[in-house]
Amino acid sequence: MPDQDLDWNDLGNIFQSPCKVLILTHKNPDGDAVGSALGLHWILEQLGHRVDIVIPDDSPMFLKWLPGHKEIVVRERKSKAFMQKLFMECDLIFCCDFNTPERLGAVEPFYLAADQPTILIDHHPPREAFTKLQIVDPSKGSTSELIFLMIEKMNLTGFVSIEAATCLLAGIMTDTVGLKVSCSYPEIYETVAQLMRLGADKDRIYEEIYNMFSADRMRLLGYSLDQNMKILPEFRSAYIALTIKELNAYRHKKGDTEGFVNYPLAIAGVVFSVLFTEQTDHIKLSLRSRGSFPANEFAQKYFNGGGHRNAAGGRYFGTMKETIDRFESVLVEFKEMLLAE
Ligand code: 5GP
Ligand code: MN
Repeated sequence: MPDQDLDWNDLGNIFQSPCKVLILTHKNPDGDAVGSALGLHWILEQLGHRVDIVIPDDSPMFLKWLPGHKEIVVRERKSKAFMQKLFMECDLIFCCDFNTPERLGAVEPFYLAADQPTILIDHHPPREAFTKLQIVDPSKGSTSELIFLMIEKMNLTGFVSIEAATCLLAGIMTDTVGLKVSCSYPEIYETVAQLMRLGADKDRIYEEIYNMFSADRMRLLGYSLDQNMKILPEFRSAYIALTIKELNAYRHKKGDTEGFVNYPLAIAGVVFSVLFTEQTDHIKLSLRSRGSFPANEFAQKYFNGGGHRNAAGGRYFGTMKETIDRFESVLVEFKEMLLAE
């Protein structure tokens, strides 16, 4: 973990001086967003802090079993006055798992108005600093892993409860797609082993996250791959596009399409996969790549997004057809990189 500008004693002191803490994470929260926020919350509470977690919008069904999930404040369900009070009364703000304040969505205005000390813990490639202190390491597969390494560094492992270990291991497992991607470095398994020793049940986490599909969700996956996937062999790319009408036909619930984008990448020769899902006022993109193709640059340049090299997101304000036309036309610019993969 890069240590520049960071005094671990200072951070240790912050951790060990109980205060009122707010933990924020990004919109469309994924397992690492929720897992890292909840894991950090359990550790801080064990250290005597009073902690609230705020997320802009609700998390997917398959994360609701995580210990402490019920206590999370979802901005879209709260009043402006409630939010203002929460921000006004806190002493310290942690930001977990995002590299630009826009990712806070409807929470961003409250964050920008706050003048308390702020600390970022993140594994995305860094962009412009927006917190006072940053603990950032893009070589790590998840923010949850980074939190555990940070706690170890401060000799605070004794404050990691079973609940904290469970949430952190869930975050590690989701961002690595069940320990399959972004985890080709031996140290990650030392962290996994430590969290298991602290009580996290790896098999249960896997079951809860990956083997709890509703029948509708499984059928939507089948439909997406059979009826909906388009392969563009000349670009070594594939995409799936789902309209609100199609999603409704399968009684779609938040998070149901999570992971669908990974399937086309398992086709030999495909190095870039995109899932388009229609939202009320835009099309959401989920992008995944293999090898060195920069899905984040693609998303940032043309689709108001960003993320990691191999996993990024974005959005486009237009119809599904306009979005796909745009996608296919900008693919041409990346053809050489795609073929070189
Ligand atoms: P997903 O496809 O699961 O929504 O997102 C994949 C990755 O890209 C995650 O690491 C997520 O944090 C990041 N990401 C998704 N949407 C955006 C976006 O609009 N902007 C940025 N900067 N990152 C995004
Ligand atoms: Mn993450």
